[in-house]
Parts: sequence; C-alpha cells; structure tokens
Amino acid sequence: MTEPRFLADEMLGSLARWLRIMGYDAEYARDMRDDDILRQAVDEERMLLTRDRELASRAGDRGILLQGDDAIGHLEAVVRRFDLTFDEERTRCALCNRQLVPMSVEEAAPRVPPRVLERHREFLTCPSCGRVYWKGTHWTGICGHVGEAVRRARTNSGPR
Ligand SMILES: [Zn+2]
Repeated sequence: MTEPRFLADEMLGSLARWLRIMGYDAEYARDMRDDDILRQAVDEERMLLTRDRELASRAGDRGILLQGDDAIGHLEAVVRRFDLTFDEERTRCALCNRQLVPMSVEEAAPRVPPRVLERHREFLTCPSCGRVYWKGTHWTGICGHVGEAVRRARTNSGPR
C-alpha cells in the first residue's frame, strides 16, 4: 500500500505540523479557495483533512471530515483511519514539509544557542528553509502530543 499523503485545510494547521513531525507528507492549504484546495487534493493524490462538512463531501472519497475542537482528537482520528506510525527517522520540517537531513555538530554549532550545543549531539536540518532541529524540550512536547494521539487511537480502535 502506498503511504497516504495529506492536505489540511486552513483550520487544521497544528494537525499538518504534527503529521509532518510523524514523517508524513502533509500540505497545508492557507488562503486558498475551496476549488483550488479540491484541485490540489486530486492533482497530488492527497487526502483532504477538513472541518468543513461541505468541502469534505465535495472531495468525495478523498474527504476526511474531522469534528470537534480537540486538536489531539483530530490527529487521533487520522492515525486510526490510516493506521499511521510515528517514525522519528523520517521527520519532516514542521514549516515546509520537506524531509529533514542529519547535520553534524560542527555545522549546527554556529546556528544554535550555546546551551543547546552543550546538551545535544544530534541535529537535523531542513534543506528548504535551513531551520535546525534537535530533540529538546520543544521536541519532547510535540512527541507528547503525537504519542498521546497514537496511544488513544490504539486504545479506542474498533468498529468505526
Ligand atoms: Zn523547512
């Protein structure tokens, strides 16, 4: 089975970022008209994640309607629906959706705060925006959200 790719609508920015952290290709439709969102979903073979009932139904088989305001609940629903897994080796840039590449400590040194350099030895960078990532407190927070959603999806699995 090919891996699912996603397009999140404007109201689901956190969901798109978390899917990227998990290693999935997730685009984010900002300031786009419904017709353009639908076209991108079809052209790029993406599942459309939306909170808009009408948009979801217009997307047909590609439309995934997410209900409620709970961001972790949205991720949980997507994880369960597509049986997603969290692979830290495949993490993508939370901002631009590009897959991150390893970066040496020497390369990272001029670009991260000294206190970070003291505590971390593994760095990743985005080939597109150049942002440097490391597994610090922010990362731990994100993994907490993602882990919580995956756990809930596994626990509550069963007939939809
Ligand atoms: Zn980036």
